[in-house]
Amino acid sequence: MDRQKYKQVVDTFFEWNQEELTKIFSELLSAVAAEKSLTPAQIMSQNYETARDNPEIHSRPGNLKDARDSIFPYFWGTDSWNNPLHLENVRGPANQASLIGAIACLLKNPNLCTDRYSQRSNELEVKAITALANLIYYHTDDPWGVFTIGGTISNLYGAKIGLERVVPGAMQKGLAGERVVGICSQASHYSNQTIAGWLGIGTENSIEIPTDENLSMRVDLLDSTLDQLYKQRIKVAYVCATFGTTDGFGIDDVQAIRECVERQCAKHNMPKPQIHCDAAVGWAMSMLTDYDRLNNPLEFSPGLLERIEKVQRANVGLRYADSVTIDFHKMGRSHYPSSAFIVNHREDLKYLARSVTDTPYFSDADPRRDPALFTLECSRPGIGPYAVIASLNGIGLVGWQMLLARGIEMAELLKERLSKLEYCKVLNRETLGASVNWWVLPKGRNAEEIFQRIIRNELTSEQLDRYRKEIRHLFDKRLKTMNPELDARLGFTTSYGYCPHGNELPGWKAVFFNPKTTDAMVERIVASIEEL
Ligand SMILES: *Cc1c(COP(=O)(O)O)cnc(C)c1O
Repeated sequence: MDRQKYKQVVDTFFEWNQEELTKIFSELLSAVAAEKSLTPAQIMSQNYETARDNPEIHSRPGNLKDARDSIFPYFWGTDSWNNPLHLENVRGPANQASLIGAIACLLKNPNLCTDRYSQRSNELEVKAITALANLIYYHTDDPWGVFTIGGTISNLYGAKIGLERVVPGAMQKGLAGERVVGICSQASHYSNQTIAGWLGIGTENSIEIPTDENLSMRVDLLDSTLDQLYKQRIKVAYVCATFGTTDGFGIDDVQAIRECVERQCAKHNMPKPQIHCDAAVGWAMSMLTDYDRLNNPLEFSPGLLERIEKVQRANVGLRYADSVTIDFHKMGRSHYPSSAFIVNHREDLKYLARSVTDTPYFSDADPRRDPALFTLECSRPGIGPYAVIASLNGIGLVGWQMLLARGIEMAELLKERLSKLEYCKVLNRETLGASVNWWVLPKGRNAEEIFQRIIRNELTSEQLDRYRKEIRHLFDKRLKTMNPELDARLGFTTSYGYCPHGNELPGWKAVFFNPKTTDAMVERIVASIEEL
């Protein structure tokens, strides 16, 4: 080999070129800053046409600038969602404490599979999990968990524990033809379907319990469903409660769900399912648990305090879950992936445990602290723990309380303004989060009356379809006529979760995750609707 050429490659790509790196990082930071002068519309149009035709691998060794140049158009053409007019979904701008954490993580590149590959980063994961567990379970004794690549996978862990609880040894023997079901609500995230499919339970055995108008699982219907299933001796692996549905922020009553499940299991002498709580979106509300409403140090308005009291009451429900899913990359405004799966009682992880013989190249793994002995993943990124601890401690609990309260405040403002328009209907008036779902119908229609008629099952499917089309048509019309410099970008859902008589209902959607969104921007949403 030409040693000279080899040395050049090593010097360029493996020596610590601090000056060069700093320069390129600084250029990238400037490129992001330049977004400020743009609208939140597409920054650069896509070119899918030839994306497969020119896969591009350079032939000769280049340098760090070649690395920069090869990704730059795609970097520039990707919106960071820093613009406060982005309200489409549960995605906010990433906070900069998280950026510091995430970059620190990348610089060391730990692999959280075992202690040996990550040392103090493994310790940081324990710290981050415990900090989150203390928020959720309100100071608990023996929690554990791991960061995963997303809420879907965190939910999968909960479901898998449940499956092992009711079909012991399924990890080794499979389901062997036994019918097992999983239960969630009709407003739950579609990942529950994905999981039932991937675990071999089957999507057809994922049972969705209808919700009430506030997007909470109907516990009376859960009760009758369990009764029917257990009469047939069909096992239920898990009941997945949702704490903050993705569109409308519905919250299931985990305490009532647990009581119902335990009563039915005892009545029929069936094994207890995992009570998992999908708090991917809603977990952040637990940071408001300790807010002192009496002294009100942050001077929240009376209306806001009332909402916070309800949040505090809802938070108590979380303590009744065996396990939870937390997406810090949603309301925690951190970097992907920062999703955590947490069990309240560490011993529950025994259901996932593999032996050292199952994981041959971790022969020195220590079951007391090496997650690889129970994780689905082998290599695991450290971004989550770094982003979470940096965000929690950079911003601080009080900082978080302000950010959360502001999200609720903006959602309330929009709900209040929209409810004054008779051709609009706020669909999630009573839910507590930062999201608003609503209808816009043509002027002259009475949206509330139409909604009540749907609840009373008085509309034909043709009538329903016509209203659905009108709601969509007006959304598209606003999209075409909006001024991207003034008008917020909104989301649309074809089913916000409440399905009276099985009818899926669409909705416009706004999620207030961007702390820079102003009251004037909210007022402008309403004005843009009035102008339609
Ligand atoms: C987003 C979401 C998920 C899936 O999480 P990912 O991190 O996107 O995989 C699951 N449940 C709920 C309620 C969600 O909002």
